[in-house]
Amino acid sequence: MLLTISTTHNPATDLGYLLHKNPARVQSFDLTFGRGHVFYPEASAERCTAALLLDIDAVHLVRGRQHGGDSGPLGQYVNDRPYVASSFLSVAISSVFRSAMGGRSTERAELANTPIPIEARIAVVRCRGGEPFLRRLLEPLGYTVTVEHHELVGPLPNIRTAVYFTVTLAGTKRVAEVLSHLYVLIPVLDDEKHYWVGDDEVEKLLRVGEGWLAAHPEREMIAQRYLKHRHSLVRDAIARLIADDDSADDETAPAARDAEEAGLERPISLHEQRLTAVLAALRTSGATSVVDFGCGEGKLLRLLLDDTQFTRIVGMDVSHRALEAAADRMRLERMPEKRRARIELLHGSLTYRDARLAGFDGAAVVEVIEHLDAPRLSAFERVVFQFARPRTIVLTTPNAEYNVRWPTLPAGRFRHRDHRFEWTRAQFQEWSASVGERFGYDAVFEAVGPVDPEVGPPTQMVVFTRQDVDG
Ligand code: SAH
Repeated sequence: MLLTISTTHNPATDLGYLLHKNPARVQSFDLTFGRGHVFYPEASAERCTAALLLDIDAVHLVRGRQHGGDSGPLGQYVNDRPYVASSFLSVAISSVFRSAMGGRSTERAELANTPIPIEARIAVVRCRGGEPFLRRLLEPLGYTVTVEHHELVGPLPNIRTAVYFTVTLAGTKRVAEVLSHLYVLIPVLDDEKHYWVGDDEVEKLLRVGEGWLAAHPEREMIAQRYLKHRHSLVRDAIARLIADDDSADDETAPAARDAEEAGLERPISLHEQRLTAVLAALRTSGATSVVDFGCGEGKLLRLLLDDTQFTRIVGMDVSHRALEAAADRMRLERMPEKRRARIELLHGSLTYRDARLAGFDGAAVVEVIEHLDAPRLSAFERVVFQFARPRTIVLTTPNAEYNVRWPTLPAGRFRHRDHRFEWTRAQFQEWSASVGERFGYDAVFEAVGPVDPEVGPPTQMVVFTRQDVDG
């Protein structure tokens, strides 16, 4: 079984950094069901191909089985399993290319988040449902699919004709995306799995399918086959996929899109500069209780926790998934009691009045307002400035003027697909002044990131201070 992944992105040998596998070496890996070998049949600046060869131990597959099913003694040992792409390949991908699948690359972090021309070829795929089904699975993901049929005629009882294909997928994609597609869809094409499918398989499917599965026209069939037709699991997965799809239009920002923005901004690690600036402003305000509105995955919360000035810290977000990720990353469950007592996560929306949000000294609203539909902005203003009404509000948003300085951002595009607007410095200052006036806050502006003489800083920040506060 052979999977090859090629790119013509120049220099193509960067593929080695994306896959964390050196093009100059052959590497072999022990897997429970055999061995995997990674090597590069070609590696030039124009075109580079990485190959994953699976050598499946057919004897190992039989060991420990009570009986060989209905295929007779020969069928136990001689079958298609060592030669086709199956759930073994998925396991191999996730262990051999784990970092690449997670979109991580130390040396080429930006490239890992950038779609590049990729061709993936699998020899061979067994597909129950034939070529039409194969195309229905792969084409909606934006691949050009080329299929070569292998007509097999033979005496082996469990081999039928024309269900085997060599498949080539071509598209402009992130490497992590391609690996996630293969990981989920290969066992789906095959419609078989070599291991027992339990509850955690639903989580795995949703995690690896994040960003593409919910909107896939064949999502139900994918869930059915991936979960080995176990009805309760399939029902659970489909319900959650539908919920995800429905919320795709609201303010929740799936991790994939955040990664896109992070990739764009990474060269100057703007996000860190932003959080440092926000933290400093909250510290200076003297706040001890703070709430992070739209806390996302909780990066600011972690910084706040590390600072003992803050004795009560609340993270709030509309996205369940972001809150789960925040809890995970903070290791909330294993946090020492004293630290745990200072932090709380709340699910809620900044466009609805919420009594839990009142009574804080300080609030942060970092890169959130641009995710709100413009008509909801006035609801947000009342929730934060009129009802929650903390003494200090530190708010950041992109400076739209700076976008021309990002070479990878096409003209007229926002930095993040979920952004509903991005303001110029004048628009931001006008809005801030008007909010300050209506709700009784003073506004002081600050630049975050390197200030360009023409277009200003990449991020703009305002610190609002309630006027009725002494001093
Ligand atoms: N402040 C974080 C996350 C910014 S991304 C950071 O700087 O890393 C924007 C966040 O705002 C997302 O997590 C999104 O779920 C959240 N969000 C969007 N609309 C919201 C609303 N109406 N109420 C609360 N949170 C919202």
